[in-house]
Amino acid sequence: MFIKKIGIDLGTCNSLVFIPEKGVILNEPSVVAVSVSDNKILAIGKEAKEMIGRTPEAIIVFKPLKDGVIADYRITEAMLRYFIKKSGGSLKILKPEVVIAVPSGITTTEKRAVIETGMNAGARAVYVVKEPILGAIGAGIPINSCSGHLVIDIGGGTTEVAVISLGGIVGWASEKIGGDKIDLEISNFIKKKYNLIIGEQTAEEIKIKIGSASPLEKNESIEIKGRDLINGLPKTIKISNSEISETISPVIIEIIKEIKAVLKNTPPELSADIIERGMILLGGGALLRNIDEVLTQAIGIPCFVAEDPLFCVIRGTEAILENLDTYKKSLLSKK
Ligand code: ADP
Ligand code: MG
Repeated sequence: MFIKKIGIDLGTCNSLVFIPEKGVILNEPSVVAVSVSDNKILAIGKEAKEMIGRTPEAIIVFKPLKDGVIADYRITEAMLRYFIKKSGGSLKILKPEVVIAVPSGITTTEKRAVIETGMNAGARAVYVVKEPILGAIGAGIPINSCSGHLVIDIGGGTTEVAVISLGGIVGWASEKIGGDKIDLEISNFIKKKYNLIIGEQTAEEIKIKIGSASPLEKNESIEIKGRDLINGLPKTIKISNSEISETISPVIIEIIKEIKAVLKNTPPELSADIIERGMILLGGGALLRNIDEVLTQAIGIPCFVAEDPLFCVIRGTEAILENLDTYKKSLLSKK
């Protein structure tokens, strides 16, 4: 296989790898399992995610990009290498060009570390591009036009809000609110109301299966299993959409505040464009039912969910790889 170009979306929750003509060849959780005694990396990706909540004390499982910043370089590098390696072929021989999506708030040191890692792994050139730019391109927005566009990316660890115009970010915010926080609210609620302890993955499953940003017209419910807080025994309970949508709402309110803060600092000409065009929603959180309606109502600007919101950023890397010249302005750095 001759790989000349690779696009990578290193998300707080999921990482994706794209190769031209092959498409998205990897889509795995950004999770790494490490042994405590010798700090050795035991598993990465899907395999590591399955270990969450099931490991003995000797193993810790963590998400190295949890809050939208690189919390641990060594682990992030190992993960990046693993993803590149899994995309096949020997990069040292093929020397591909690599586009890597990074959070808007990335520091110069982090940016350098990402570039270095890509180069060490055998890339000929590493282009670092901010996620909202890639997300916007992937959502079909003509980012190089001089009109303003508002992009909201609700990921696992963070929600990034950005106003984009002329290929660059005019205003932005990144807050540590997202899918993970919703999951946490769900497990806290179930613990408090039902004295039931549930794992992270169960909380996420509840959100995906019966969650919504506002109550659904027809109430839905599911049975879930956990451990009774009082007697320590396994227990099954039934919970409903009305309970969960209420539980989720404080997180949605925080997202609304974040969007409003960005809008407040947006130059009036661009605000006018945004009112006209609406805001575009992407990232896994965009799949939460009714989120577009709730945001539209709270902010007073129409909100649209992008097509395949989990794939916008990686599709953006594809567009950039194919048209490096067109998007020159948006590349953070080149090496
Ligand atoms: P990141 O880019 O930070 O890795 P993603 O864009 O991959 O994040 O989104 C991951 C988040 O989206 C997770 O919190 C996940 O639970 C959530 N998610 C995925 N599918 C759904 C769904 N159908 N409803 C609600 N949330 C979802
Ligand atoms: Mg993302």
